Amino acid sequence: MIKNNTSSLEQSRQILKTVFGYDAFRGQQADVISAICDGKDALVLMPTGGGKSLCYQIPSMLRAGVGIIVSPLIALMRDQVRALEDLGVQAAYLNSTLSATEQQSVMNWVKSGELDLLYIAPERLLQAATLSQLQLCNVALIAIDEAHCVSSWGHDFRQDYLDLYRLKEAFPNTPRLALTATADPRTQADISQRLALTQPEFFLDGFDRPNIYYMVQAKSDARKQLLAFLLEHKGDAGIVYCLSRKSVEATAEFLHLQGYKALPYHAGMNTHLRNQHQEQFLREEAVIMVATIAFGMGIDKPDVRFVAHLDLPKSIEAYYQETGRAGRDGQPADAWMVYGLQDVVRLSKMVAESNADESHKVIERSKLDALLGWCEVTTCRRRQLLRLFGEHMENDCGNCDTCLKPPITWDSTEAAQKALSCVYRTGQRFGAGHVIDVLRGQTRDKVLQFNHDKLTTFGIGKEFSDIAWRSIFRQLVVRGFLYADHSRYGALRLTPASRELLRGELQLFLREETSKPKARKARVTYTLELEEETLMDALKSLRKDIATQNSIPPYVVFHDATLLEMVKVRPTSAQEMLQITGVGQSKLQKYGEAFLQTLATN
Ligand code: ADP
Ligand code: ZN
Repeated sequence: MIKNNTSSLEQSRQILKTVFGYDAFRGQQADVISAICDGKDALVLMPTGGGKSLCYQIPSMLRAGVGIIVSPLIALMRDQVRALEDLGVQAAYLNSTLSATEQQSVMNWVKSGELDLLYIAPERLLQAATLSQLQLCNVALIAIDEAHCVSSWGHDFRQDYLDLYRLKEAFPNTPRLALTATADPRTQADISQRLALTQPEFFLDGFDRPNIYYMVQAKSDARKQLLAFLLEHKGDAGIVYCLSRKSVEATAEFLHLQGYKALPYHAGMNTHLRNQHQEQFLREEAVIMVATIAFGMGIDKPDVRFVAHLDLPKSIEAYYQETGRAGRDGQPADAWMVYGLQDVVRLSKMVAESNADESHKVIERSKLDALLGWCEVTTCRRRQLLRLFGEHMENDCGNCDTCLKPPITWDSTEAAQKALSCVYRTGQRFGAGHVIDVLRGQTRDKVLQFNHDKLTTFGIGKEFSDIAWRSIFRQLVVRGFLYADHSRYGALRLTPASRELLRGELQLFLREETSKPKARKARVTYTLELEEETLMDALKSLRKDIATQNSIPPYVVFHDATLLEMVKVRPTSAQEMLQITGVGQSKLQKYGEAFLQTLATN
């Protein structure tokens, strides 16, 4: 704890430099820290990787007493604490993985007033025994991480977050701050209300993640498409999201056979194995995690280079949250997704059959529609994404698929009329596959069985391939000209809008399906000369050794960007080393010499 007459801002800058090794605050970090130091409540909304942790870590160190960090992620607490210890910060966690004696000694540490940060799960904090002990201590602040878990509108609702409002009474004079990366305004208001924050200051950072490249493709052969995408990510760590446990297992197995270090992760696996896979993802390099949405919250691995979706997520918020796990270090990263009509039908079914009440279902449906509309967008994808979060962007981004290769649209009025007529003639009872067979004049069993080869629409759509028709049907569904009845396996029906189109009252432009959407330009993060490459490898190998010895993930020792700066700057003394971003006093003391030596001998 630092106490003297300098302003809290100056003191926080000092901590930023000497402890964390950073030169300047990012975004609204400094303002949040000031508000908390002034004893105010706050709601902090920053994108993933925006630097939320410093917003409570630094005030916890500045203010008298311990900062309590409420987090739902027991499995990650140990790593978070290790990372702080590595920076020379007095931090600890309290959860069921500790023995009774260990828990007692943590409590004693809190009572001594020496501890700066205590990580704890909500249910544990709210136990009467814990609360009463902590109430006797000096508490600097209470930070509620992943605060959207309190809102039933969000997608990660947790029952045990609901009781956190009691903290207001239990610690009436302690500033509380809620932190989240969830964008939805409804969720924001809910957080503040349900946590009973007292006149909180709102800190809303922009949502843009400029280093993430967004890319969406029509699903044809998902696995083949994934392999092609992974070719650009040799040696990278990434996450592949799938909807079901079964497809997680199958995809992980498939990638494994293709020579990738791919591990499955889903809620149906036993806890031990799941945790082991998470550990491997964090500690080893180039691991691909194939997972359901059960994976990812709180994962603060900075060098995840891609997030791939083999199935559509449920909403644009979920998509944003999941893709946000890529590129926390600010280096270029990819968000890649494939989707098809099947996904649309499946998700519509999930929404319709969920246990939620009607008003929730309506909202979920509209969230899904927003995502679908976004998938088919023909203008800058990032602009549209931010617009959905209420943010305006002046110019196109130049770093998304639609910017790099603007989709071609074509007058699809006639094709759409053919499609709708054929849906009508076949009785509005069949899915796209069958209707396309009829359109293309395919004499398959099912076509003959229903005498659909006798229809006037039989064979009127031979000019388009199967893939082209699928694209047309998908877009017609997404744009509301057809309804895919999920309760009848995606059977297509006409809608009120279809009639206008059939009557020729409007002209329709659809996007043309490209078989090979534009991949991002070669990733030029940095260029290294050959000898620099060798030096980088040497530094990485030293980092790996240190990490293994201390059983911490390599990125806790130093980020890639820090190593890179060392290669470029080549510091030769402790003083010069301290100038490197990410090198503070504690790390200098622990690792400085080893790294200086490697730099000198390579
Ligand atoms: P999140 O908002 O997702 O919780 P973190 O707090 O984990 O983000 O920060 C993301 C990364 O950015 C971390 O590696 C952190 O060390 C780094 N970082 C945070 N603030 C700064 C800063 N002011 N300057 C440089 N790097 C920073
Ligand atoms: Zn763009």
